[in-house]
Amino acid sequence: MYCQLLFGLIQRDEVVMIGSVFASGVLRGFKFLENNWQELCSNIKTGQISDWITDSGCKNAASVILKPNPELADLIENICSCKSWEGIIRKLWPRTKYIGTICTGAMIQYTAELEFYCGGIPLVSGFYACLEGAVGINLELLSKPSDVSYTFLPNSVYYEFVPVKEECVTNSQNLVESVETKSSDEDTEPVELVNVKPGQCYELLVTSSTGLYWYRVGDILMVTAFHNNTPQFRFVVRENVALGVDVERTSEADLLKAVTEAKTLVDPLGFILTGYTAYGDTSSTPGHYVIFWELKAKEGNNGKELDPQVMEECCSRIEESLHFTYRMYRKENIIAALEIRVVKQGTFEALMDYFISRGASLSQYKTPVCIKSKEALEILDSRVIGKFFSPKTPM
Ligand code: AMP
Repeated sequence: MYCQLLFGLIQRDEVVMIGSVFASGVLRGFKFLENNWQELCSNIKTGQISDWITDSGCKNAASVILKPNPELADLIENICSCKSWEGIIRKLWPRTKYIGTICTGAMIQYTAELEFYCGGIPLVSGFYACLEGAVGINLELLSKPSDVSYTFLPNSVYYEFVPVKEECVTNSQNLVESVETKSSDEDTEPVELVNVKPGQCYELLVTSSTGLYWYRVGDILMVTAFHNNTPQFRFVVRENVALGVDVERTSEADLLKAVTEAKTLVDPLGFILTGYTAYGDTSSTPGHYVIFWELKAKEGNNGKELDPQVMEECCSRIEESLHFTYRMYRKENIIAALEIRVVKQGTFEALMDYFISRGASLSQYKTPVCIKSKEALEILDSRVIGKFFSPKTPM
């Protein structure tokens, strides 16, 4: 990553697109740049790559590209030493036309922070793919992340679709309000691509020549329209990502919707939510939901601190936005007050480092919506800078 950024900065006038498979990867790149720009500038100034770069491929490439260039180093230093990095992409890479990265599904949580760096450069979610096959492409490349639909590629692998119980209801931000999988077997027969219905949600099944048969990819998709005869789908949510402390279950979509509602309260204070994840704490009785939040000050925040009252209000807002069972259990004290733990900046990066050290692929990494591992929890807990609880039971 260091060398890629170094070469990208040296050849800044040739860069027309910045990207990584998932939005979290692009953000990781910018956070890395925030921590390393001084050293990168010093390499550009002297024409010498840092000693700790030992990979021969990188060193050889550097020997071709890297020449002492103090003017360029000063220019980049001036840009990077600005107090705010809002719109930094335009300044560092003035010819950038778009950011090519998946911003839909679980990645939608990163769009606010990416837009901060972009300064108006469009975010383009070009495709929907998984290891099992290339599923779909986005034909309206400039549509907003919340409006993106993918047109299926019917010749990649054989797709079938299991209808899920409820039609997906979306809110004004196109976030899904409710999705439930069928509890009985009735009407759960998979349908073919040509038989899907607009507005209906489906679970994706894959049969491939490499040996998968009715393989459940784990994604829930909603049919939005057709391109000629080919259905177009919006990515709704990954199935079975459930948070629970009793018998209630909270899906990824439930949580995303509730967090989206709550984060509107910190926006006016000059903060952006840059990452969240959740965990069901059952170490005491009754158990309660813990949501980890990483917040970043926006331009114009002027050093404002987080207001504890607003944070408590965020906890309440999440509770009020969760499903009926949650609210009922809270009222009956089967679930205790929801807690937000604010973590210091860089925590979600440390979490990513941990999962990558355990074998996750950097380019395919997605922040887990619910934390199950003890070590991951320790990483989050050791970086907590504030704890806030919901002061009242939800209506
Ligand atoms: P992997 O199999 O590790 O490559 O991850 C594939 C998974 O990433 C898919 O099953 C989806 O859950 C998610 N994914 C891939 N492309 C998209 C997309 N365009 N929008 C939302 N989620 C996606």
